Amino acid sequence: MDIAKIREEYPILQRKIYGHQLVYLDNTATSQTPDCVVDAVVRGYTTTKANVHRGVHTLSMEATELQEGTRRRVKEFINASSTDEVIFTRGTTEAINLVAASYGGAFFKEGDEVILSVMEHHSNIVPWQLLESRIGIKIRVIPINSVGELDLDVYRSLFSEKTRFVSVCHASNVLGTVNPVKEIVAEAHSHGVPVLIDGAQAAPHLKIDVTDFDADFYAFSAHKMYGPAGVGVLYGKRKWLEMMPPYQGGGEMIETVSFERTTFAALPYKFEAGTPDFVGIAALHKAIDYMENLGVENIAAHEHELLEYTTRRMMEEVPGMRIFGTAPGKCAIISFLVGNEHHYDMGMLLDKLGIAVRTGHHCAQPLMHALGVEGVVRASFAVYNTIDDCDRFMTALKRVAAMLG
Ligand code: PMP
Repeated sequence: MDIAKIREEYPILQRKIYGHQLVYLDNTATSQTPDCVVDAVVRGYTTTKANVHRGVHTLSMEATELQEGTRRRVKEFINASSTDEVIFTRGTTEAINLVAASYGGAFFKEGDEVILSVMEHHSNIVPWQLLESRIGIKIRVIPINSVGELDLDVYRSLFSEKTRFVSVCHASNVLGTVNPVKEIVAEAHSHGVPVLIDGAQAAPHLKIDVTDFDADFYAFSAHKMYGPAGVGVLYGKRKWLEMMPPYQGGGEMIETVSFERTTFAALPYKFEAGTPDFVGIAALHKAIDYMENLGVENIAAHEHELLEYTTRRMMEEVPGMRIFGTAPGKCAIISFLVGNEHHYDMGMLLDKLGIAVRTGHHCAQPLMHALGVEGVVRASFAVYNTIDDCDRFMTALKRVAAMLG
């Protein structure tokens, strides 16, 4: 891949921060957006803006076709069997809330159990906790081992006749660990239990194949995969989606409405109440094309090179370096602390040198608790990062560590 050419599509990377060349290493929080995707957003607003699914006029039909074209593209991208199983949401968070509220709200009863893991993002914890207080379900938690992998023996031991659901991430946003989702799903299915996979961190780096995984539900966000913010996808197996009641009520999701009786639209519209971000959805199509034109495996290979290079230098050159998450095959995410220095101080000082990293609990407070820390600094890579970025990061990191130390 010609990274210099790729970078030309990201004018934001030319920004100066406090007089320094920006080094953007906060890709796990959100990736930057290439011109081709931004152009799709601009085109959406300047040439085809009209509400979808409602009009007989040309603009509305074009806008609808753009949205449904993305649905077909997503179906291929994740290898779903039907576009009826592809639901547009605001993001991963809304997708998980949809499943928890609709599936859990309808089918769980007091005492039922849901299995999560300790490495989950808050968005795959709190929606289930809402059912804990509403219905009285219980949450069981898969722990991790010393390198940051799920303890699958404990996972197998958590199943009982009360287990109703499993919800785990495909890749951790802190540790980078890639979980063996096929194995996790197969185990749950041997107990007759459906599985949701939070793919927010997997979609930018890994091939997604919901049919191969046999996932019951799979969720991801466009903004982490070179796409626009405010758009996400929930994949769900038809057999579940048909059984599940609507999540929100409103326009688009109905067949007929009267004060006596309302009937709901067929899949996938039953779960798409209200006007969607149809411009963003159209731009997601471009983001998927962009990733697949580059090749998801090429993107991942490039990021891995940066990951290995930077990890080695951090361990060799920064005294007191502690990296959290060292599982083989991890995604290009490095969460770390240096000695007893506060993550926030490090992040602030790195910013003054033009380096954008994230600090804090990363919406994974239970994981921070398990790791025995309050927060960490996180550097993460995307296709447009270079060895030069890694070198600038290392120079800044050593300077900050020396200043604080
Ligand atoms: N799950 C994981 C693993 C994540 O990293 C994130 C985003 N940080 C989310 C869920 C939530 O995604 P969003 O905010 O796009 O809904």
